[in-house]
Amino acid sequence: MGLDSTAQGRHRCIMPHDHSTPGHALLPPEPELRVKALETLLVGKGLVDPAALDAIVDQMQNHVGPRAGARVIARAWTDDAFRARILADAMPDLIDMGLTGAQGEHVVVVENTPEVHNVVVCTLCSCYPWPLLGVPPAWYKSDAYRARVVREPRGVLAEFGLNLPSEQAVRVWDSTAEIRYLVLPMRPDGTEGLDTDALEAWVTRNAMIGTGLPQAPA
Ligand code: FE
Repeated sequence: MGLDSTAQGRHRCIMPHDHSTPGHALLPPEPELRVKALETLLVGKGLVDPAALDAIVDQMQNHVGPRAGARVIARAWTDDAFRARILADAMPDLIDMGLTGAQGEHVVVVENTPEVHNVVVCTLCSCYPWPLLGVPPAWYKSDAYRARVVREPRGVLAEFGLNLPSEQAVRVWDSTAEIRYLVLPMRPDGTEGLDTDALEAWVTRNAMIGTGLPQAPA
């Protein structure tokens, strides 16, 4: 669903975010201190096991990341049947590939074409397809990106160094806790003959959010 149709949709997030509630006012402003304060409180009350927290952080830092999404994109560039399937309904194949889980229960793949460039935001907080892209970058969660990419997407994309041709429309997708989006970028010229392993290296995280394009590996 596009931005307009999700504006009135349900939106709830598991991640901590910026909604103003009295509870938030009790926490220090710096994110790291807030996390530490919350962790101390939860562990102290016996609500979470510190070892479980360590395991989650290890999983996010060392095992989950944009390479998983890149594997999906490279496969879509080389396998037309796979590409058609994930554009119709990504979940059966993502489950097959072991690329589902928390924050990625329902992923929709949107395809860039010469006519349309897709870009993803979460206007209310920071919903993001974790099993495919890892944890969201700080800018994705910033007030500036969330507000401005909707109002002036071309201007924001230009600040990322992405200047789109005027004839290419820009479509902004607003993520929710129910639906997260993965952009399928166009396969770049000059990659003919590369296999999926080589193609994976071209797929940047930002290309899968829509704030960048695939790039030749350094
Ligand atoms: Fe969100």
